[in-house]
Amino acid sequence: MASRVIPVDPFDLVIFGGTGDLARRKILPSLYRRYRDGQMPEDARVIGCARAELDDRSYRELVRAALEEFVAKRKRDPEMIDRFLQKISYIRLDATGTVGWKELAKSVRKGVIRAFYFSVGPGLFAALAQHLHQYKITDAEARIVVEKPFGHDLKSARELNSVLAQSFDERHIYRIDHYLGKETVQNLMAVRFGNILFEPLWNAQYVDHIQITVAETVGVAGRGGYYDKAGAMRDMVQNHMMQLLCLIAMEPPSVFDSDAVRDEKLKVIRALDPVAPEDLVRGQYRREGDIPSYQEDVGNPDSTTESFVAMEVHVSNWRWTGTPFYLRTGKRLRARESEIAIMFKDPPHSIFGRQEARSGNVLVIRLQPNEGMVLNVTIKEPGPGGMRLIEVPLDMSFAEALGEEGADIPDAYERLIMDVIRGNQTLFMRGDEVEAAWAWTDPIINGWEERGDLPLPYDPFSSGPEDALMLMHRKGRRWREISDDL
Ligand code: NAP
Repeated sequence: MASRVIPVDPFDLVIFGGTGDLARRKILPSLYRRYRDGQMPEDARVIGCARAELDDRSYRELVRAALEEFVAKRKRDPEMIDRFLQKISYIRLDATGTVGWKELAKSVRKGVIRAFYFSVGPGLFAALAQHLHQYKITDAEARIVVEKPFGHDLKSARELNSVLAQSFDERHIYRIDHYLGKETVQNLMAVRFGNILFEPLWNAQYVDHIQITVAETVGVAGRGGYYDKAGAMRDMVQNHMMQLLCLIAMEPPSVFDSDAVRDEKLKVIRALDPVAPEDLVRGQYRREGDIPSYQEDVGNPDSTTESFVAMEVHVSNWRWTGTPFYLRTGKRLRARESEIAIMFKDPPHSIFGRQEARSGNVLVIRLQPNEGMVLNVTIKEPGPGGMRLIEVPLDMSFAEALGEEGADIPDAYERLIMDVIRGNQTLFMRGDEVEAAWAWTDPIINGWEERGDLPLPYDPFSSGPEDALMLMHRKGRRWREISDDL
């Protein structure tokens, strides 16, 4: 299967924060890979901006080093890298001052797409937006890209939205949630809406419950300053897990276009019930042997921030009432794994006798590692000796099923940046979606703060606190094992 790459139109992409971690680890390597695959056109240009005293030459060396570090060796072609670097330049610019803005205004070209990536802390968004406006650097088609965290709560998200709205229409603003750029996440929509097989079963009548797990083995060392103010709820649930939940729970949009999809997601968020305290478990990893505790990692011995959260969530609408969604995410867990498991109900009657009754089918959508899907089906155990039933996976690892092309699944950032250039907002969060997600999250956080609830300790590389298991056990269910196998 030859992969089909359609080049995007010529563009000027300005990266504010062009020397930062995100630019070096994700944005620049993604651009290089799109260039290498023929999608970024020859007359595209990338302008890095930051306050550091660099010129084009030294910035290109910084970019070269980033590609060395963050692009797989087999994709590094020295000649391609040289050609890619020729498209890169640097402007020394201060977001909050006057330095660099006139030069930037002169540098961006007329007649090409202009995109501005705000790869800086949110405290600088207002200054960037105002300066872009003041120096007339944007045009009617300009795109601005902003990163998470989009606000700390509803109030700050509203403030950010209104700051951006002073200079840009919603159709110009691309709020990145990189989970939405993952191939499997988009495949979720293809599977749901491209097949007749699943959609009739996709409701409370046939689905017992849904599990969404985002587990990491890493702790928070290195990101402690940010993380300790956020916690798992703000860092993962309000954005990534909410987006996954929406894609599973939403009604079929009439067309696959940005507003139709985002309208349906918004309806899901608005249908979420408040989460009762007994449906919520927060945890924090403790020290074990040489492995430091969360509090040691963040350097705050009194921290009560959660590094783990699990909860039972209800979507109160016609399709889902009666089918809970279980969300679980944490650091320092048993394995690195992100997956969605649709746990179907048992068949209504077992013709094979009671002891042979099996749990229902499971559809597992694996986001990482090993992107792919598995459908567990019940079959007869081979051999003589009566009708014994076993569950076997109908497995579709994308890398295996799609051969070379599957092994080469583009990074989420590659797809998202190209979507920005194409002007396709489907995989980006709209302002009202973000605000609705905070409106649901805020009372949960305020609730535990008001009650003074403390996170429960859990062992590193475990499945989280025991109470998280109880969330399921009390209703006769259990979590799937956290494991890196599909
Ligand atoms: P970072 O490593 O601290 O980089 C910040 C960048 O902004 C640097 O290039 C810095 O260069 C520049 N900068 C700072 N103040 C400036 C100013 N006044 N004017 C112009 N440039 C300025 O941060 P990062 O990790 O790349 O993160 C960037 C944004 O992405 C943040 O909002 C972060 O929350 C978000 N994000 C990051 C990641 C990640 O993996 N890193 C993941 C998700 C979201 P100078 O100091 O030389 O100006």
